[in-house]
Amino acid sequence: MSFNDIVGQETAKQMLQNALRREAVSHAYLFSGPSGAGQIQTAFTFAQALFCTEITDDACGRCLECRKLEHGNHPDLTKIEPDGASIKIDQIRELQRIFSYRSENRNPKVYIIDRADKMTTQAANSLLKFLEEPQAPAVAILIAENGQALLPTIQSRTQNVPFRALDPGMMEQVLVSEGYPAALVRCAVHLSSGLDDCRKILNENWFAEIRNVVLQLGKESLNRTGSAIITASQKVFKSELSDHLDILFSLFHLWFKDMIHVQYGRKESLVFIDQAEYISGHASARSTAQWVSYMDLAAECQKKLRYNVNGQLCVEQLLMGLGGNTPA
Ligand SMILES: [Zn+2]
Repeated sequence: MSFNDIVGQETAKQMLQNALRREAVSHAYLFSGPSGAGQIQTAFTFAQALFCTEITDDACGRCLECRKLEHGNHPDLTKIEPDGASIKIDQIRELQRIFSYRSENRNPKVYIIDRADKMTTQAANSLLKFLEEPQAPAVAILIAENGQALLPTIQSRTQNVPFRALDPGMMEQVLVSEGYPAALVRCAVHLSSGLDDCRKILNENWFAEIRNVVLQLGKESLNRTGSAIITASQKVFKSELSDHLDILFSLFHLWFKDMIHVQYGRKESLVFIDQAEYISGHASARSTAQWVSYMDLAAECQKKLRYNVNGQLCVEQLLMGLGGNTPA
C-alpha cells in the first residue's frame, strides 16, 4: 500500500503525509465524510507508513513492518467496527486491555474505529477517557460519515481529516482496474456514493441479473406493456430480485435518461454502455418530454416502495405507465 494508490483525497493525503514528514503525528484523527471514499485504505496506509522503517512519509511495502501489516498480522494495529448495530463498551474495554501493553519496538500503537458514530454513549465515554490518558503511545483513527454525531469532547480531541465523495469517473477507473466488468461498473458508480458500496453490489450475483431484467423490461415495455408485466412477475417476483426493487427503479431511471442522452447527442454520458446501439436505434421512439415523464414515474414508484407500498404493485404501476406510444 502507498499513498500513491489512493484515488483522489488530496487534502487528506497531504495532511497525513505532512504530519509524517514533520514527525508531528497527532494522537487522534477523525476521518470524516461520505463512507467508502477511501477512508479505510488511507487509515491502513497511514498506519503502515508510521511503522515502515524505510520511508518517512509513505510505506515501502518491503520492510518487515510493511510486510507484517500487509499480511494482516501487525501486532500494533487494531481495527474495530460495529458489532451488530453499534460499537459497544466491551469493545472499547478490550481495546484498552490490548493497549495496556507497550509495543515491543518503538512503534506507537494504532487503532482504527470504523463507523465511530455508531458508538453507544457508554462506549464513547469510555473512549474519551482513553483518548485523554493513553497508557502507551497511541494513534487513534476514527472514521465517521458524520463527525458531528460524535461527542463534542471527542471531536475536540481529534484532528479532522476531511474526505470527499469520489466522482463516478474516478470510481469507475479504480473498479475497472480491479477487474470488475466495465458495463456493470458504469451502472454501479451511478447507484452508490462510495467505492465500498460499489464493490458490495458488484460482488453480488443479483446485480448483473437485475440489470439484465431492467434491460429486458425496458425493451419490452416499448411495445408490449402486457408482456413486460408477465416477464416481471416471472423474473422478479419469483426470485431473490424482489429484495432489490429499489435498485431496479434506479436502473430504470438511468435507462430512460440514457435515451435522452442519445437524443441530445451525448453518447459519452451513456450508463448502459453495452446497449449504445439499441439505445441509439430506439431513443426517438418517444419524445424527450415523454422520457422525462418516465423518469419521474420511476422516481414516484420508488418513493412508494420506500413508503412500504407492495413491491409488485409499484413495479406494475411503472410498467403500465410506460404504455401509450406517442412517437416523437
Ligand atoms: Zn516499509
